[in-house]
Amino acid sequence: MKKYWIKDQIVYPTYIKSLLYISYRETYEVLDIIKELGILEYNFEIYCSKCEKFQDFKILRSLNEFPEKLYCESGHKLDPLKDTVLIYRVIKDE
Ligand SMILES: [Zn+2]
Repeated sequence: MKKYWIKDQIVYPTYIKSLLYISYRETYEVLDIIKELGILEYNFEIYCSKCEKFQDFKILRSLNEFPEKLYCESGHKLDPLKDTVLIYRVIKDE
């Protein structure tokens, strides 16, 4: 799988899950192993848990980048822990 990945590519667990027919827990376990190898890092995508919708906002490389005040398009105040989805970024070319 690795050879299809290029640096800075975003890896979505939902995509990997559908590719491998495994559970979410297993998907994150696999991706965490690849992360431990230094090939992936954690990134975060902003997702309003109330609207159940991804927000049109740049991908965060760390939760520290989460703006102090951020609202979804329906006006819900977004929280860095509740309203983000863990994704992965390729940080190394194989
Ligand atoms: Zn919302």
